[in-house]
Amino acid sequence: MGSVGKNRLHKLPVLNQDAQRLAPEDVRAFNANSVLNCIRRFGPVARIDLSRRTGLTPATVSACCRQLEELHLVEQAGIGGSRGGRRPVLFQLSRTHFFALSVDIGVSETVALAVDLSGSVCARLTAPTPKGVAAEGTPSLSVPGEAAGQGPGGLGPRQAVQLAVDLLGRLRAQLPPQAVTLGVVVTVPGPVDYETGTVLFSPNLPGWEGVPLRPWLRDALGLPCWIENDANAAAWAERWLGVGRETDNLLFVLVDAGVGSGLVADGELYRGARGTAGELGHITVDMEGPRCNCGNYGCLEAVAAPIGLVPQAVREIRKGHPSRMAEIVQGRLEAIDPDVLLAAAVQRDPLAVSLLQKAGRYIGIGVAAMINLFNPQLIVIGGRFPTAFPDLFPAIAATAQARAFQALAGGAKIVPSSLGPDAVALGGAALVLRRFFQQAPGSTGGAGLDGSAALADKATPFH
Ligand SMILES: [Zn+2]
Repeated sequence: MGSVGKNRLHKLPVLNQDAQRLAPEDVRAFNANSVLNCIRRFGPVARIDLSRRTGLTPATVSACCRQLEELHLVEQAGIGGSRGGRRPVLFQLSRTHFFALSVDIGVSETVALAVDLSGSVCARLTAPTPKGVAAEGTPSLSVPGEAAGQGPGGLGPRQAVQLAVDLLGRLRAQLPPQAVTLGVVVTVPGPVDYETGTVLFSPNLPGWEGVPLRPWLRDALGLPCWIENDANAAAWAERWLGVGRETDNLLFVLVDAGVGSGLVADGELYRGARGTAGELGHITVDMEGPRCNCGNYGCLEAVAAPIGLVPQAVREIRKGHPSRMAEIVQGRLEAIDPDVLLAAAVQRDPLAVSLLQKAGRYIGIGVAAMINLFNPQLIVIGGRFPTAFPDLFPAIAATAQARAFQALAGGAKIVPSSLGPDAVALGGAALVLRRFFQQAPGSTGGAGLDGSAALADKATPFH
């Protein structure tokens, strides 16, 4: 049980001599955080491997594991295989005490999740997203300080917040009695201002201009809460839990009723100066194209996202083109929406399939532009539409590969999302987890996030 050998010190990103002035409890918290993050990334894992990966001595690792067990952050996960000596105890993240919550307010559906420290889903609830139409028997809305119909935003956002609060209450009731809720991230399909916690607007959800969503949620929930753009959350989900775990530069293309993208650059979400980076759906692809819900003309979303294809579908059916879509809405063509288009495509309706294939080609052109601009290692295509209608993926990927600057496209891999239709909601929960793992235990900030930057033992001299 010696200290870290001097020959290994050069490999450790040991803090400079200021580290010697840290209080012992800070060093202990830093080390525990490093061990915790190492268990998060590599668990179930034995103490000897934790020691090897963090550079901490076995004695320090054992003390950290004891401390983390007492805090209910990690648990023993059985016995590993022998490598010559006694068979080692394995450690993994605790599944029973700490939970992250998220609500994804989508254009048509709202999804609420509770996940444990490992990111596994423990409880899931869904409901249609309120559209701001007051139904008979609608419960009174309890958005603090705001009477229904007044203040920023319309009725839709207030109903959506009420629904989120209701779903979160029901989720928490399903968790074990000792459960600690770490926080909530609520995602929306539009750009958000992170400083004020305001939804700037949502092109496809009417009434969401300047909605102070985070203050509303904080008052209603009494929990730490944050808001996030949907595509950003999905990008973070792949980075933390999915196919992007080993990738520092990835692009997530979210295809729902509209199209958006989220960018992870150098391991962090890239949100831009005001949080609106990655609005892939609103690049112009047709100078003389139709008006978009954002107010511009000829946006990718208006020309070829599912929400922009609906008027084209209706026009074709009115011209006499037979389609399953007309049957689904029983002839009420005004009721055709992106969900009807998707349902018909899944049933192989030729008109719906050809429209979504066109969508794939246009989205592929947008992805090619993103490849040229940002040079991601990995492009992940996900969201409800590619999940339910897998033909969309090859249409997007082939066009993006063919049209991107070849030197860049050659090194970029395009893959389908590994997280299915809940990628956005998982990303919200993963953002809560990331904040927690940066801080717990103690308050040593972001150091040790990747489990590789352990402070050396107290006994180890700093050089
Ligand atoms: Zn637009």
